[in-house]
Amino acid sequence: DISHSYTGRFAPSPTGPLHLGSLVCALGSYLDAVAHGGTWLVRMEDLDPPREEPGAAGRILDSLRAHGLHWQGPLDWQSRRHDRYEEILATLAERDLLYPCRCTRAQIRRAGGHDNSGCRGTAPADGPAALRLKSAGGEESFEDIWQGPQTQPIRDDTILRRKDGLYAYQLAVVTDDIDRGVSHVVRGADLLETTGAQQFLFRLLGSEPPQFGHLPLVMGPDNHQKLSKQNGAPAIDDRRAPENLCTALDFLGFRVPAELALEAPAQILSWAVARWQRRQLDLRNRQLTEKPS
Ligand code: GLU
Repeated sequence: DISHSYTGRFAPSPTGPLHLGSLVCALGSYLDAVAHGGTWLVRMEDLDPPREEPGAAGRILDSLRAHGLHWQGPLDWQSRRHDRYEEILATLAERDLLYPCRCTRAQIRRAGGHDNSGCRGTAPADGPAALRLKSAGGEESFEDIWQGPQTQPIRDDTILRRKDGLYAYQLAVVTDDIDRGVSHVVRGADLLETTGAQQFLFRLLGSEPPQFGHLPLVMGPDNHQKLSKQNGAPAIDDRRAPENLCTALDFLGFRVPAELALEAPAQILSWAVARWQRRQLDLRNRQLTEKPS
């Protein structure tokens, strides 16, 4: 029985409005949390201003509300948690687990690929440097809810603060999940490969890693790439929330009766919460492409 200890979250980056792919992730994490009697949180990952789109955070939150996806508790903004990230970096530095590195990706590739631990222990030269965590060398295993058993070698010393001074996604996501007591991370399969390094950091910071579940990705019209803003995925239309929810439910393996789309979002969500089963998601048969509108 996990109902007493379930905290889930949806953690969008405000690089653009929600599209069908991100709605599926929001809905999947919501359903898994609520169906297990858990708490569902939302966190805005506004960590990287150059990649953000003005107004996107507000639009994402409006879309979630329009689709009945109401979060519990206060909304977290990563842009307001820099002091906390600095604190974690200081703890790690004290334990001698960080080192500055100025290598570019091209330099690392030329030096033979992944292992960039060559900078470990060298005296920091002047100028801007990334902060890396001494993490490469081992491997991390976990049982993914949908993707099954995973073993990931940690090839790189994870960057925790970038050369441009911005906090890295890996640092922020683990710090926030720990601080909010997140027990289950349900998100898109594009993040599967980041998970081992995150699990390593959880343990290093003295926390039990959450259970991870990576949902299959909604593919774009060409069926090769996931839907994303970069390949022109259209923003979901909040005025069509019932239809959008039904499309997303279909992708998540529900048999959706046609009349369901005539209901309000709240009714559609309770219909789905009552029926949600993790095993309904058949990874082999998931193929849904955005219909050109
Ligand atoms: N902010 C990340 C994204 O939008 C997701 C982070 C996560 O769920 O761990 O891709």
